[in-house]
Amino acid sequence: MAERTLAAVFHRSGDPLTLTDFALPQALPPGGALCRVLMATICGSDLHTIAGRRQEPAPLILGHEIVGEVVALGDDLTRDGFGDPLAVGDRVTWTIAAACGRCRNCQRGYPQKCAALRKYGHNCLHDGQPLTGGYAGHVVLWPGTTVFRLPGNLPIPAVAPANCALATAVHAVEEVDPQPGESVLILGAGLFGASLAALVRERGAAAVIVADVRAERLAQARRFGATATLDLGKLDLPAATECLRSLTDGHGPQVVFEVCGQPHLASWALDTLDIGGRLLVAGMVMPGTGFAVEGNQLTRRCLTVRGIHNYAPRHLAEALRFLARQDHARLFAESVGDVFPLVRIQDAIAAADSGDYLRVGVVPGC
Ligand SMILES: [Zn+2]
Ligand SMILES: [Zn+2]
Repeated sequence: MAERTLAAVFHRSGDPLTLTDFALPQALPPGGALCRVLMATICGSDLHTIAGRRQEPAPLILGHEIVGEVVALGDDLTRDGFGDPLAVGDRVTWTIAAACGRCRNCQRGYPQKCAALRKYGHNCLHDGQPLTGGYAGHVVLWPGTTVFRLPGNLPIPAVAPANCALATAVHAVEEVDPQPGESVLILGAGLFGASLAALVRERGAAAVIVADVRAERLAQARRFGATATLDLGKLDLPAATECLRSLTDGHGPQVVFEVCGQPHLASWALDTLDIGGRLLVAGMVMPGTGFAVEGNQLTRRCLTVRGIHNYAPRHLAEALRFLARQDHARLFAESVGDVFPLVRIQDAIAAADSGDYLRVGVVPGC
């Protein structure tokens, strides 16, 4: 077994990541694992950290969307999240965070809010095990992580972003439960929005309308299942409201997913909802995102507003099952528009930041 590995360390916004050599652990705690990274994809939240729009405890190894190969397993980690045997050499992905399973929040069904939560790609080098980010040759998995062996022959690029965008989208869909025949509006056409489009289309939504300011992202959303798009770079909101009504038989959508981080659009979408409509808020992860809610409208039109953040292990399990169904894996694999070796991490970040691709991949060894 290798004894050392290379990782890209983020120090502070504005400084390039530095390639640093780390020792691999020679022993693992019960429930832990060591994985060789096969691919990590660059998520928008990583770009926010690199640009200084979001604070993380630095220095750290970024990257939380990861597919790896099991190199070593700690005692007790014998089965994956599907209940199947887990072995050295298996291709795996894992939950974005490790949770204790015992604290109040874990017991109440919020493992993603565990009192002792640790998230991959979000953990300071000086806080215990340093190798917990994906922009590295290896990742050490904490006990309390749910690991999933990749079903079938799922392509690595399809799976890498699943433990962030697609699993969170599965959670969002579960919360508002769109029914066959309902109309759905998705605010934001990044991979989260595109994943929602694919999921609600599979559930038989009558209309899947995706709104964004980027025309090329809207074109991609159509490939993922959008039946119509609203280009908010060209349409003002009154015009968009008119379009939305004509696309929903004059009623407005029954379900809106906000995944764009724009509070004024959440307010607008609330006004467009049909009687009994549901607004799911999942994109406003920064402070300063207050938005106007007319209480009178909530009451009289019987509306629901819900928030979600991250997901539980069952959502990642369903994300992988979804990828294994029909032609979804090919679609999601195409979301990774370019792939760079780890030694070119700065070029990979620049490519991801260009916005040309839904995702950019980083692989350790080429
Ligand atoms: Zn992410
Ligand atoms: Zn807990």
